[in-house]
Amino acid sequence: MMVVRGLKLSTKLRCVERERIVVQKSLFSNVDVEIKKFVYEVTEWKLVVQHDYELTYLDSGTKVKVIGVDSRTVCAGEILCSVIKRGDEIRVVVHRELCKRSATKHRFCSVHSRGEYSSYIGYVFGLRNEVPSTGLAMIPHLVYAMHAGLNNVKVGIANMLKNVTRLFEQIFLYATILTITEDVHKARSLELRLSSISGVVDRMRVSDRIRALMRALERRDYELKRFVSILLRMIDAINGGYEGGGKDYIPILTLVDEHLDFRRVNKVVENWRQVREGVYVIAKYVVGGIVLENVVNNEALYIPYASIRDRVLPLTPIQ
Ligand SMILES: [Zn+2]
Repeated sequence: MMVVRGLKLSTKLRCVERERIVVQKSLFSNVDVEIKKFVYEVTEWKLVVQHDYELTYLDSGTKVKVIGVDSRTVCAGEILCSVIKRGDEIRVVVHRELCKRSATKHRFCSVHSRGEYSSYIGYVFGLRNEVPSTGLAMIPHLVYAMHAGLNNVKVGIANMLKNVTRLFEQIFLYATILTITEDVHKARSLELRLSSISGVVDRMRVSDRIRALMRALERRDYELKRFVSILLRMIDAINGGYEGGGKDYIPILTLVDEHLDFRRVNKVVENWRQVREGVYVIAKYVVGGIVLENVVNNEALYIPYASIRDRVLPLTPIQ
């Protein structure tokens, strides 16, 4: 049994593009904003998979045989971490306990739903209100904003162990890191505050994001302006505002075209039941997901990472 537990990737900054754009700040005023677009390429990536009680990898280029449709959600287990803070230095020791039981409550089995990782995840996803005060909750967190098109900018948080990998797990065209906070509580409070701004959401369905992205790819300049104008409202809410006038710039993270290319994808698959049995190659990374290519008819399937995380993969690697 193989269960997807993570995405591991190496990125390379392909280029930085400086641009000045004029965006609408309010009904009556426009503002001239300087942005720097950091264009990233994913040079290497792997799916981190749990095989029995060990973590291994599935690399791009691996041939796999798909048998059956079992894709049940498996308990996310336990992550215990001890955090030692000394001045500016933070030392984190992580212990991960893998589980093979099916998830019954949200993403956990009945044993681990009482664990430290479960209370952390529950708080991050807004399922629990009690603020966790151990482990992952105590390390710095990123607060990011991402845009996949349409009118919704998503705000999110990620702990610093996961860091920007969290962005690459999701579907986006443009993203930015808004700030780094001391712990999860400060990050989550800011996330809630920012999600009350008009045009900002803290959740968005995968299928909606894919649909939005398809349209956004045809009008990237328009979507960039849209993103930046909402970002200005968020920056205002965080620290009183973007001053403009060439004093500062807004960093925007985006991907090289290759990772945004859905033209060669024949089908978007959010459920394993739609995958036909056969031999496939784990072909490449496309934003927020992976592409499986059928070796017989070359049909390319895009599978969003969100729909395979903590799920059983009904496939076995072959030589
Ligand atoms: Zn468990």
